[in-house]
Amino acid sequence: MTLLFTLVGNGASLGDAHTQTVVAYERGDPRPLYAQAIHQRDRRNKILLLSMEAAEQFREMMVRAAKDGFHLQVISAFRTHREQRILRKRKGDIAALPGWSNHQQGLSVDLAGTTRKIKGKRYRTILYWWLVRNAKKYGFYNDVPNEPWHWTYKGVRAHG
Ligand SMILES: [Zn+2]
Repeated sequence: MTLLFTLVGNGASLGDAHTQTVVAYERGDPRPLYAQAIHQRDRRNKILLLSMEAAEQFREMMVRAAKDGFHLQVISAFRTHREQRILRKRKGDIAALPGWSNHQQGLSVDLAGTTRKIKGKRYRTILYWWLVRNAKKYGFYNDVPNEPWHWTYKGVRAHG
């Protein structure tokens, strides 16, 4: 715990400006995570971070998507414990318990434009189907079926 508090306390920025050490949570337990920016900001102008490997793969996927005419706009990536607590308070059971969201491991992204509402009904968009076809090549999977916007990095090797 001492190590974690030290890292948070001085806002440690290791390496270049695009990487920083944050406190990740996995199954309720905190640990330091060396995270990398994905060169996008959220609506509050906060730099969006993912774990190193997930960030690298995501940026490659962004390039591929752009070639196919899609812009992968990230709404949410790594979340701090505080952000997850606030989200849980606001959304209730829809959001994972603080400490248990894979957003807190720096592995998940929420993407804009995966659904569209027409006459009160929500439909999956062409972007969503592009992700279904292509995201696995970069290790990303839609692991919450009723959240088409939520894509989690599970590694490229294990899933071929
Ligand atoms: Zn999500």
